[in-house]
Amino acid sequence: MTKELPKTAKAVVIGGGIIGCSTAYHLAKLGWTDTVLLERKKLTSGTTFHAAGLVGQLRTSANITQLLGYSVDLYKKLEAETGLGTGWKMNGGLRLACNQERWTEVKRQATTAQSFGLEMHLLNPQEAFDLWPLMTTDDLVGAAFLPTDGQANPSDITQALAKGARMAGVSIFEDTEVLDLEIDKGRIRAVITAQGRIECERVVVCAGQWTRSFAARFGVNVPLVSVEHQYIITDSFGVPSNLPTLRDPDRLTYYKEEVGGMVMGGYEPNPIAWALDGIPDGFHYTLLDSNFDHFEQIMEQALGRVPALENAGIKQLLNGPESFTPDGNFILGEAPELKNFFVGAGFNAFGIASAGGAGMALAEWVTRGEPPYDLWPADIRRFGRPHFDTDWVRTRTLEAYGKHYTLAFPFEEYASGRPCRKSPLYDRLKSQGACFGEKLGWERPNWFADLFANEEPKDIYTYARQNWFDAVGREHKAAREAAVIFDQTSFAKFVLKGRDAETALSWIAANDVAKPEGSLIYTQMLNDKGGIECDVTCARIAENEYYIVTGTGFATHDFDWISRNIPDDLHAELVDVTSAYTVLSLMGPNSRAILQEVTTSDVSNAAFPFGRVKTIGIAGCPVRALRITYVGELGYELHVPIEYAITVYDALMATDGQFGLVNAGYRAIESCRLEKGYRAWGSDIGPDHTPVEAGLSWAVKMRKNTPFKGREVIERQLEGGVKKMLVCLVPENPDIVLLGRETIYRDGKRVGWLSSGGFGYTIGKPIGYGYVRNPDGVTEDFVLSGTYELDVARERVPCKVSLKPLYDPEMKRVKA
Ligand SMILES: Cc1cc2nc3c(=O)[nH]c(=O)nc-3n(C[C@H](O)[C@H](O)[C@H](O)COP(=O)(O)OP(=O)(O)OC[C@H]3O[C@@H](n4cnc5c(N)ncnc54)[C@H](O)[C@@H]3O)c2cc1C
Repeated sequence: MTKELPKTAKAVVIGGGIIGCSTAYHLAKLGWTDTVLLERKKLTSGTTFHAAGLVGQLRTSANITQLLGYSVDLYKKLEAETGLGTGWKMNGGLRLACNQERWTEVKRQATTAQSFGLEMHLLNPQEAFDLWPLMTTDDLVGAAFLPTDGQANPSDITQALAKGARMAGVSIFEDTEVLDLEIDKGRIRAVITAQGRIECERVVVCAGQWTRSFAARFGVNVPLVSVEHQYIITDSFGVPSNLPTLRDPDRLTYYKEEVGGMVMGGYEPNPIAWALDGIPDGFHYTLLDSNFDHFEQIMEQALGRVPALENAGIKQLLNGPESFTPDGNFILGEAPELKNFFVGAGFNAFGIASAGGAGMALAEWVTRGEPPYDLWPADIRRFGRPHFDTDWVRTRTLEAYGKHYTLAFPFEEYASGRPCRKSPLYDRLKSQGACFGEKLGWERPNWFADLFANEEPKDIYTYARQNWFDAVGREHKAAREAAVIFDQTSFAKFVLKGRDAETALSWIAANDVAKPEGSLIYTQMLNDKGGIECDVTCARIAENEYYIVTGTGFATHDFDWISRNIPDDLHAELVDVTSAYTVLSLMGPNSRAILQEVTTSDVSNAAFPFGRVKTIGIAGCPVRALRITYVGELGYELHVPIEYAITVYDALMATDGQFGLVNAGYRAIESCRLEKGYRAWGSDIGPDHTPVEAGLSWAVKMRKNTPFKGREVIERQLEGGVKKMLVCLVPENPDIVLLGRETIYRDGKRVGWLSSGGFGYTIGKPIGYGYVRNPDGVTEDFVLSGTYELDVARERVPCKVSLKPLYDPEMKRVKA
């Protein structure tokens, strides 16, 4: 007898692949037993049934690594819980290095693993061979071994998750396609299927490669595209069943034992996009035609590593489509465009490895409104305007796919789909030697080459000192000693307007925003755990209007956070005005003199002090000037209506000879801000860190007895102390290259890792920031009384610690 669809449910999960089943399982575990999962065909019939089943854990983000670790812990016990076999084997994972740069990468990954508490051993070629005797080792420099990595049977794991979900109360319906959503006043009311309608509180779309087109029908942007991915399955040739999985990135290939034979696949540099005109109807349990010609390049590489493959019979060259994303990470969270529409999709060929943790995190997000911890690298709100255009998404995604196994160099930039989003100054700056990077589609000058000295504006990637090191040093010096212009047009900018703007912002912001017109307020915006969701500058433009400025990459996220936290009964509207203004940041000790040269407005310190916003005229243009700095010098952010951008830039540059004004880029900003101790959202601060832990208590309005979101946690921490604290670490050796994620040791004990790393040219030393953790509490005395070392690519480096800025512009001296 066929079960009837229920009329109501708390949550409806769309899609019965591994992600949907894991999400439903975890929803039920969190008490949402009134959950329904709808699958258009059969469970696993989308992408899941044809996955290879490798389960690796290490990523560049601590929290994503933790999430994958959760998958392993779950897969270990799922069979015992459900009685269904999962094929889970924890044979470990080997990763090879065949050149010195790769070996440096692997060593740095080993440090990262250690920072995140994941066991990873460095091996010499013989030790690697002992673990994987089928391979040639003549080109090996070394290898890394992660003993807790493993492999599973994707369909079996999915069926076990589905069974676990059913056991906990979830209803699962196959052959039930969701045809439509009923939406009322910006919220989903019900899902519609041919078998009936289910009224529900939340919808969780885990529809794999179908997710983009499904979501687009409701105005939700999910940037993923289908790409062909192939692997061979061989006949049995005596491959031992306890063989670890193997990744050989220099040969673009991966391997796994399967019933005495081998699964071998790889990432071609020239991937093939699939379903350009949409996924065909009836595509289920379907594979694509094997493409032997395209796979030949991978096969050749594999034969060089595993000669026995030459004589192994090939059962199948499996070609399956998988959804990939423009940055290689998956997509989780509530859609910023539509309330109650949650997404879990875009798994970039590591959906089996991710499913346990991703389902757990998504279920928490659905039931509690927030993920269990900061998942910014996977957050749906990391995307924005550039990701609406499918052609652009596909172009960038194919590049990301092709780079899956290439060396992930620090500071590496994508090359495809560029230039796309340009400041009005783009051509001017390019002709003056700008080397651009890209963020959220925007072209941003990273540094300027000296064209007269025949420097080429091009990054040459390496793990060692970068080719632009000296150029950035010049810009840094100019910012400290004369003046520079940074083109920061890509800043996200919002207007909050309405008769209750002050009351609304006072609730959302942790700092006091009830300041007179003309004030600038630097503030964090906190979640209910006191974690920092946004780090912004608010300019009070009028009684009922604020102008809010935040980082380029946070445009969608911060807009979503602010708008969804405006209390319902208040009158305040948030509008994104990013594209209306160019931002020229004029920074450095000569900046006031330069500004005075080009404006008749009084910009003296008395007339225009720090922390104020003022509209001034420059060369006929109305310019909103914000007296603020992120580099630790006297400076002004000039927000210029976009059509005046070139006029204002030219007027400023015309003062050149007198004041030493030069162009500078984002890497000089980074170097200056590290010296001055300014925090960066997404690395030093974020939803897992409170202002008290981050040394930003001074920016919280505790003195005023006003309620604000997150206040209780801050009160508790100010009273009872914290268990982690952001500190600055300076290695004694100036030649050490810090990149972030290096392990922090205090008195020989591992206490954290670097959230930021870089170089300070004024102090002439590398600089790192990171949290020192201690379950019994961290105080300033605890921090300052320790002796510190950093683990950099598995070398211990002695460091000095500081809780104060290393650089003070007033004193012009180094304090470290
Ligand atoms: C060749 C290949 C090898 C791979 N190897 C690995 C590996 O070794 N390790 C690893 O971790 N990952 C691997 N992957 C990736 C992994 O297979 C995927 O990331 C994972 O299966 C994605 O699961 P999913 O649930 O998101 O999607 P799917 O399995 O596609 O599930 C989505 C489901 O949604 C259903 N659906 C769609 N629209 C609707 C609708 N309107 N109503 C109801 N249902 C709907 C579909 O029918 C489908 O069943 C590999 C992928 C490929 C292609």
